[in-house]
Amino acid sequence: MKFHTKNVHFQDKVDTVEVSKTKPIYQTSAFSFTDLDDMENFFQGKKGYMYTRVGNPNTDDLGKGVADLEGAPVGAASASGISAILGGVLAVAKAGDHVVATEDLYGGTYQLFAHELADFGIEVSFVNFEDQSKIKEAIKENTVLLYTEAVTNPLLRVEDIAGVVKIADDHGLKTMVDNTFPSPYLIRPYTYGVNLVAHSATKYIGGHSDLSAGIIVGDKDLMKKAKSKIVNLGANLGPFDGWLGCRGLKTLSLRMERQSSNAQKLADHLGKEASVKKVYYPKGVSAKGNGAIVTVDLGENYDLHNFFRNLNWVKVVPTLAGVETSVTYPVGTSHRPVPKETRERLGVTESMVRISVGIEDAEDIIEVFDQALANSKK
Ligand SMILES: *Cc1c(COP(=O)(O)O)cnc(C)c1O
Repeated sequence: MKFHTKNVHFQDKVDTVEVSKTKPIYQTSAFSFTDLDDMENFFQGKKGYMYTRVGNPNTDDLGKGVADLEGAPVGAASASGISAILGGVLAVAKAGDHVVATEDLYGGTYQLFAHELADFGIEVSFVNFEDQSKIKEAIKENTVLLYTEAVTNPLLRVEDIAGVVKIADDHGLKTMVDNTFPSPYLIRPYTYGVNLVAHSATKYIGGHSDLSAGIIVGDKDLMKKAKSKIVNLGANLGPFDGWLGCRGLKTLSLRMERQSSNAQKLADHLGKEASVKKVYYPKGVSAKGNGAIVTVDLGENYDLHNFFRNLNWVKVVPTLAGVETSVTYPVGTSHRPVPKETRERLGVTESMVRISVGIEDAEDIIEVFDQALANSKK
């Protein structure tokens, strides 16, 4: 070989020679065939991989890993939570179909449902899922799917998943649940009979705020369609991000255990602060805890700008779920696209702060919020 050729082919023999302790990153756009029979084997389903958009060991591992934890037979990873949700919806609904969704949706999902699905010919009605008679009233001839979230943002309403599944079964509909907030550590919607479960793996599955990814798991037949939507719409996750997601996933239970326990302590503490208008923290989510998000409505007694300026090491961010405690201003970020009337009806106020509790020591977390409250009191 001449230099240029050698330079490009230096690694050809490295693959699979070493048995590494962790899975290597298959940072490749495609897989090679030894001969035409080997190529034919792929198309006969006897060989795993051909082209990374269609499948890659690192991204498949992440989908399978979450499916296992959710108790679902099949899972797939995608480039974002939103693309996983889109893949799941398109696995059930096509042009001319109707979806009934909860009105207190995550802002990005609301955008997708309210503004993008119409271009696919799919109509969505948003109703208050807390009142199940409203769900039944919204069901029409062409309804195919009920869509909700296991725990909602930012008010942390815990969905009656069994109740939603019952309505769907009575009307011959499919169900899909976004399980991002509780993660499978706390709630496993598939075990209630939900057909598809979606995640923004950008949040607790990844857990370190260094990844954008999505997961969809569920029934075999629906997952075949969801996976083909992800592949054919080009919403696949890259190998490195799949690997990173797997690394995060390994510590999900440890993180959720600590974060839920810290959140419970913070919620109990803030609940005792008489000048804070209201603390939202759910009860009875799971025997293992109630999740890592605490939402506080500061009400009239605090200067919001000073509160956000006095959070010491707690960062102000437009997201949640990392190992570090962070805060979000929902009206300024996640609920910016939600119309003001809807926001007010939902109870998402201008004095609301959403806290994503991390893995630090509970005492230190409590101290930061005590100081921010003391420094922003009017
Ligand atoms: C973040 C989030 C999404 C969207 O996920 P991306 O990874 O940002 O695409 C969907 N649902 C919920 C509940 C989320 O928190």
